Formats: sequence, structure tokens, C-alpha cells
Amino acid sequence: MNSLLITRRLAIVLILSLCGAFFYATYNAIENIVAEQSRVQQEAVSPVYELVRDELLRPLYIAETFASSIDFTVAMDSPDFDEELLLRRLRDMEEDLGLTFFFASELTRKQYLSNGTTLDLIEGEVAWYFEAQEQGKDFMADLGQVGDVHLYFDVKVYGSEREFLGYVGVGMHLQQFIDTFDRYKARYGYDFLFVNDQDEIILTSLPELVVTDAYIPKLESLEWFAHGDAPGSHDSEIIQVDDEDFLISEYGIQELGWRLLLLIPLEARQAQTTRSFVISAATAVISVLLLALTIYYLMLLYKQNLEKRAEIDSLTGLPNRAFIQRYYDQMQRDGGTLCAIIIDLDRFKKINDTYGHEAGDRVLEAAASVFKEVLRDKDIVGRWGGEEFVMLLPATSVETGMAIAERARKRLENLTIELRESNVSITASFGVAFGPASDESLADLMDRADKVLYEAKENGRNQVMLYKEAS
Ligand code: GH3
Ligand code: MG
Ligand code: MG
Repeated sequence: MNSLLITRRLAIVLILSLCGAFFYATYNAIENIVAEQSRVQQEAVSPVYELVRDELLRPLYIAETFASSIDFTVAMDSPDFDEELLLRRLRDMEEDLGLTFFFASELTRKQYLSNGTTLDLIEGEVAWYFEAQEQGKDFMADLGQVGDVHLYFDVKVYGSEREFLGYVGVGMHLQQFIDTFDRYKARYGYDFLFVNDQDEIILTSLPELVVTDAYIPKLESLEWFAHGDAPGSHDSEIIQVDDEDFLISEYGIQELGWRLLLLIPLEARQAQTTRSFVISAATAVISVLLLALTIYYLMLLYKQNLEKRAEIDSLTGLPNRAFIQRYYDQMQRDGGTLCAIIIDLDRFKKINDTYGHEAGDRVLEAAASVFKEVLRDKDIVGRWGGEEFVMLLPATSVETGMAIAERARKRLENLTIELRESNVSITASFGVAFGPASDESLADLMDRADKVLYEAKENGRNQVMLYKEAS
């Protein structure tokens, strides 16, 4: 398997494992967030039940007990029913329990209040009494006003024959709830929204949403609740109020047909979980990017290396024809004159024929070394093909070019190459041409050099010939 394929496979494996690590980190972070949220919700549950039981349902239970009190039903039913006694009893109850009480009597069509007053129940004037009967409800939790706004729990009263006797009501001052909520908020940090089946916010710890005599806020009016989803759908939702994050927990209060929305502020711990997730995600992304960059860079290097190898002759280690062409193109762009020398080994075929092809290869290597030795730093020599070589000498005078060619010829002539059984020597013929690189293609320049090389061969080989314009 070649190393490019290995590099690619390695890259894929690395990227896949990093993706895996990234998804694992994400999964873990989400799991942590979910666990943290349920912990926060769990923590919130018991004080909330306590609040609902002790504060909200207490008046309801009292109202129910009150409505089923035998004493009272008998009293209301009787023709010599004593109003004064009733009002006195209501006042006593108010004092004992700290709640407001009333009786609304069907028999007398009067409402008796624990503040000592009575009110005539006249159709068209006291709406709630008649609406409640029409709706056939045995129980209501409603906002009412006697002085300040109260929350009333009204329970229907029946006689022994199941005949309708009226309503008893237990009222609690709204401010009492608000004080309680403030206490809970100070202790646990939650905010409360008690919402009835009409989505009206009846009780809340949020001061701006507290009911006034003219105003009952609706859930839909809240910005974060504007989409008015089905009940229960906001449970575990995270909302932002005044740039703070809150987790909503939703609880049903069956006894009232209400819902309690608890707004739990998300603590620093939550923010930290989110922050650490962001940091690890960013680290993973940066690592993936760095790795991808490294792999890209390595592959680039490898590709350049391959390209370089593609331009090197494997036998002599000299640049090949493709490299020479590229080098020439570069010189053409840079401008200036240059000297091109084409070299062809003399009677090389005979070497192959006499000593074998491998011996021929050794001779080619030896010749290549000689040609390299005679060159200056700025010059190059390459294998043009077979037993032909090319030298390109940039910015070189005719004299210098001819001298270099001559030096190469002499060195080669004097070289003794040791092959297995015998010492072999070799010569070469040289064709030299000059020209401004910008004017001419490499092929044309080589044609000119070739022409004089041919002449050198014709003249008896082992010599350097210069191409002159006249020739
Ligand atoms: P001349 O003096 O006219 O150039 O004679 P020559 O024998 O050198 O010319 P010719 O072109 O007829 O022969 C070149 C030979 O070089 C033919 C070929 O077998 C041989 N040759 C080409 N490439 C290689 C090589 O890579 N290794 C070996 N051993 N021989 C090669
Ligand atoms: Mg040849
Ligand atoms: Mg030859």
C-alpha cells in the first residue's frame, strides 16, 4: 500500500475518532444539563406542595367543612333563622382563623359577611351568585372584592333533601398570599404563577402581575408565554426574563382545576455546565481544524515530494527532461541569455554490446557524476534521454560556456571506469548553442545545439562544437 493511501486512511480514522469524541462530549454535556435540571426541579417540589397544601388549599378545606356543617344547614333551613346570631358567629370565625367568611342564603336572598354587613342578592346586581347557580358548579375559586381584593373559595350548600340552600365562602386577602410568596421566594428563590382554567393569573409572586380590582392578567400577555401552548407544555422549558434564565416547572392543582407555574432561577452551576460545554466543544472544533490543517500540510509536502521525484531520473539521480523544461520556462520568464550544451556519449551502444546493459548503466552514472562536477552552482545538468545529457548555464558568456564544455569533455575522456573485469573509458560529443531565453523555445534551442552535435559526431566525435549564426 503506498504511503498516500496510508496518510488518507489515517486522516479518515483521526477525523472519525475526533467526531466521536466530540459527539460523546456533547452527549455528556446534555446529559449533565438534563440531570442538573431535574435535580433543580426535584428540589423545588416539596416546598411547593407544602405551599399549595398549607396556604392555598387550607381555605378551601375550611370552606368545605363549613358547608357540610350540620348545625349551619339546619339553621339556614329553619323559618325562625336568627340573622344576628349568624353574623356574630361569622365574626368569631374571622377572628379565630384570620380568614373572611360569608353565607349567601337562597332562602333570604341575602349575603351575610363576617365583617358584620349584609348584602341583598338581587338578580342583575350580584352577578356571581346567579352565574354560579346557572353553571351548576359545587365549588368555585374566584376573586372577589370586599374592601381589598380577596380570593374566595365558594362551596354550594345543600339541605338534608339535597335542596339548594346557598353558598358559603371563605376569603383570603390577596396580600396574605403575596406575603407568603415573598417568604418562599426569599427562602428558595422561586417565583409563582397560579393560573386558572381560563389562563388567568390569579395569584403570583411577580409584583407587576398581581391582580388589582380592575385587572386580571392573562398568561398570553406575557412575552415569554405568547405562543399559548397547551397546558403542561411549558414544563421544563427554559425562558429568559430580564436577561436571567429560569426553568419552568408546571404542576396541576386538581382540587382547584388550576395550574401552578414555578419559575426556578438557573444558578451559576447551570451556567457553568453550559460554559464548560462551550469550551470543550470549541476545543474539539479547534483540534479537528488543527489536525485537518496538519494532515493537509503533510499531504501537500508528500505531493511536492512525489512531484519532485517525478522530475528526477532514477538511474543517474539527475533532473529529467520534464524538470529541464520547467527550469527553462522559469529562465524564460526571468529573461537573460543562456548557454545550452547537449552531450551525447560516443559509441555507447558498443559498451552495452560488449559489457552488457548493466555495465552501460554504470557508465551512464559515472558520466553523470563528471558532468555535475564541472558545473557552477547556478548551472544544471539533466538527462535528456538515453545516453544524452543537457546542461543549461544561465547568464554565461560564449568563452565560459565553451570552457565548461571542454572541461567536461576532458574529464570524461580521462575517466577510467572500473567494470567487473576491465577498465573502460568513454568520450562524448558536445553541441553548444547560445541564445536569449525569452526569444526561443527550448525545442528550438536544442535543435540548434543538436545540429552542431551532429557535426561533432561527423568530425570524429570527442569534441565540442559551437553553433554560430552562419553555420
Ligand atoms: P554515437 O556515437 O553515434 O552516439 O553512437 P551510439 O552508439 O552512442 O548511438 P546510438 O544512439 O545508436 O546508441 C545509443 C544507445 O544507448 C542505444 C541504447 O541501447 C543505449 N541506451 C539508451 N538508454 C540506455 C540506458 O538507460 N542504459 C543502457 N545501458 N543503455 C542505454
Ligand atoms: Mg544518442
Ligand atoms: Mg551516442
